[in-house]
Amino acid sequence: MSKLRVLIVDDSSVMRKIVERSLRQAGLDLGEVLEASNGAEALAEVNKGKFDLILSDINMPAMDGLEFLRGLAGVESAKGVPVVMITTEGSEARVVEALSVGAKGYIRKPFTPEQVKERVAPLLGGGQ
Ligand SMILES: [Mg+2]
Repeated sequence: MSKLRVLIVDDSSVMRKIVERSLRQAGLDLGEVLEASNGAEALAEVNKGKFDLILSDINMPAMDGLEFLRGLAGVESAKGVPVVMITTEGSEARVVEALSVGAKGYIRKPFTPEQVKERVAPLLGGGQ
């Protein structure tokens, strides 16, 4: 399998780096990793090219993770691309909503690389 092209969406640049580091520590074979700080920026990236995996925060200004998921529904290059939500304690209702509008799973903060691997690896086509 070729290296994974990944999009990390979070309004916190620190959290984006933590997510990327966790993916590397989880042993995923990362290629290009792009970042976006809200759903609108993320949709713009998705419209520009195909990703193998998208990880997205739920709570973000401008366009949150749920609106982002709804926006992805109409984007051809997003078809079949797994989206995993990064959530905080106490946001169960929003997680349920995210799963109902297309998210393939969620990771609760704080998380370990092992938890990231557990959630993400089964969503990737073989070899990871
Ligand atoms: Mg946030």
